[in-house]
Amino acid sequence: MYDVIIIGAGPAGLTSALYLLRANKKVLVLEAKSYGGQILNAHKIENYPAIMEISGYDFATNLYNQVKRLGCEIIYETVIKIKDDKTVITKENEYKAKAIIIATGASNRKLNIDFEEHFIGKGLSYCASCDGNFYKNKIVAVIGGGSSALEDALYLANIAHKVYLIHRRDEFRGDIKYLEELKKCDNVEFILNSNIVSLNGDDFLKSITIKDNLEKIMEIKVDGVFVAIGQTPNNEIFKNVVDLDDNGYIIAHDDVCTKTNNIYVAGDARVKDLRQLTTAIADGSLSATKAIKEIKKNL
Ligand code: NAP
Repeated sequence: MYDVIIIGAGPAGLTSALYLLRANKKVLVLEAKSYGGQILNAHKIENYPAIMEISGYDFATNLYNQVKRLGCEIIYETVIKIKDDKTVITKENEYKAKAIIIATGASNRKLNIDFEEHFIGKGLSYCASCDGNFYKNKIVAVIGGGSSALEDALYLANIAHKVYLIHRRDEFRGDIKYLEELKKCDNVEFILNSNIVSLNGDDFLKSITIKDNLEKIMEIKVDGVFVAIGQTPNNEIFKNVVDLDDNGYIIAHDDVCTKTNNIYVAGDARVKDLRQLTTAIADGSLSATKAIKEIKKNL
């Protein structure tokens, strides 16, 4: 029996672990892939208070090392269900705890067009910092208009020969600072009011077809496409113990409490106004603190 099981080893989950371990709680973190979550995709973090600049990889690794040093147990297994307020089921095992913290974040949103799965790793990527180096002096397109897309386009402008930034509107929701920097890059071309409608090629991606608001179709030769159109949560499997909103995010009260006592939610997985590193960290510390109080109450 653990004190707390945390599902997800991103910034929210690992911060929960940090606070719980420092309170001498017995903690298990269950993670399906690797530690770090979405922040691993951030090339450069410049808006975390008191840290001038750090890569997402370094941030995640520092946090991981910090909890490992405190003896954090991390098991790499995929959770398939929370059976009840004390039991978590993975593909392989069943684990029990006095409290559970869901910190599963969100996954990259897909384009939902034909052959998307086929071209993953063959010209299509959701992570510029992971795959950008394969496109040295090549032609790439970035899809999206948020900070991720702008940041990816900037990153790729330093590697690729040419970068098309394709966005479905003529206004960007991403950080203006990135946009201003992008406008100064000679090798970046903005294609606005346009949607990607097909991915073309055989084994490898060779071109994309886009359609603008006036229904005009254009084919663009590209070696790679980077999709940065936001995230969607992974909460369907928790529906028996938490309420979800229309977009699939977990509805929380008092920031991190779900409808089930002893089950908390931290980070991007919950309904919130701002999904950023700072707010994920805040949720991590708060969910841990609430779990500690609840465990004490039930002693
Ligand atoms: P986001 O802010 O949700 O932006 C997603 C973008 O993709 C929007 O421009 C949206 O267009 C577009 N989009 C969504 N679905 C689409 C579709 N099916 N086809 C074409 N375009 C589509 O997501 P994000 O950029 O990943 O950012 C997520 C959060 O992380 C934000 O809070 C952001 O500020 C933060 N972030 C911070 C940093 C940093 O501080 N360094 C870096 C990256 C991200 P519309 O605008 O038309 O809706």
